[in-house]
Amino acid sequence: MFTANGDYSLLQGNYLFSEVGKRAAAFQAAHPDAEIIRMGIGDVTRPLVPAVIAAMHAAVEEMGAAETFHGYGPDHGYEFLREAIQKRDYLSRGIDISTEEIFVSDGAKCDVGNIQELFSRDCIVAVTDPVYPVYVDTNVMSGRGGRYVDGGYERIVYLPCTAENGFMPEMPKTTVDVMYLCYPNNPTGAMLTRAQLQEIVRYALQNGVLLLYDSAYEAYIGEPDKPHSIYEIDGARECAIEFRSMSKTAGFTGTRCAYTVVPKTLQYRDTFGNTVSLNAMWGRRMATKFNGVSYITQRGAAAAYSDEGYAQLQSVIADYMENARIIREGLQSAGYTVYGGVNAPYIWLRVPHGDSWRFYDELLERHHIVGTPGAGFGRAGEGYFRMTAFATRENTIRAMERITKG
Ligand code: PLP
Repeated sequence: MFTANGDYSLLQGNYLFSEVGKRAAAFQAAHPDAEIIRMGIGDVTRPLVPAVIAAMHAAVEEMGAAETFHGYGPDHGYEFLREAIQKRDYLSRGIDISTEEIFVSDGAKCDVGNIQELFSRDCIVAVTDPVYPVYVDTNVMSGRGGRYVDGGYERIVYLPCTAENGFMPEMPKTTVDVMYLCYPNNPTGAMLTRAQLQEIVRYALQNGVLLLYDSAYEAYIGEPDKPHSIYEIDGARECAIEFRSMSKTAGFTGTRCAYTVVPKTLQYRDTFGNTVSLNAMWGRRMATKFNGVSYITQRGAAAAYSDEGYAQLQSVIADYMENARIIREGLQSAGYTVYGGVNAPYIWLRVPHGDSWRFYDELLERHHIVGTPGAGFGRAGEGYFRMTAFATRENTIRAMERITKG
């Protein structure tokens, strides 16, 4: 008789964004004339850039003629895209990554979840806290979470990242096997220095820990001395997988394209004691379970890496980061302590009275602005509040005017 996976019953409700939406909708219903400004959810708002659109149009035409039609693509992505990624994201920074180590996919969200197929079931997982909820929930779904007690899962090791420790996680005191890292960080907007990442890589190498480095917001790094890839750090090729996404970099949240780098130098023992290559395992996993990103999308993605497309994207990103500056400075002039917004499109503000849901209600009622309570990202998120730089310029300015005028 079929039995369903009980691990799903251990999941907590998708409380955060549904509650954020529910409260905003209730407020709107009670105040139909209120013009609510939404700075809660991290989706982009600017359209795809012209170079990407032109490449996708051309690809559509190719698909319409027998001589240029494309069926199934190569298992790990078209070479033209993997070469473009290799050249701009790695070789240009002096990082030696081969195209065979780059796997094109339809999203970093899927990849950070699916990568667990490479872990043994009893791996102990560590996450930074506050955390992008996908890392936690996907591990709970596959039995690595345990019961939910006092705001956290028993088997997951949470590494608090707060203003007090400069948003740098303290390395675990207990044994862990896998550690998820997200830099630039969602939700805190924090970015680590080269020396801090070196400390983490050193810890990982000493303890046989696999690092999963999610760099979905890499394009937003504004400070010139910050590393753009974990592979800029000595030893990372021996302990880290890197995830990148076109979603926030190129406005592909609805178009879908991402990639994962699995170096061939990642060699571990499996449950039978065999030495295995994670690159070979991920290659096998992708070839078996995934049939690739559409040709049209991959052509669009490659155009984002062309000189023309890249320049167009830099201007969109600069635009979002100008919003981030407006938010940071607006909040500071209203007396708030703020973090982030320099290397990430997220501003993380300290809630004066410490109750992030109460602050959500106050901001909505007083200023008609929606943000995201830090408590929704984990226990260490309580006392903070996330605002995003993805709204329009006009709404960003209006929101700050409302806050600064009290
Ligand atoms: N990783 C982080 C940290 C994110 O914040 C997001 C999206 O919000 C993703 C991954 C998802 O990326 P994708 O759209 O490529 O699935």
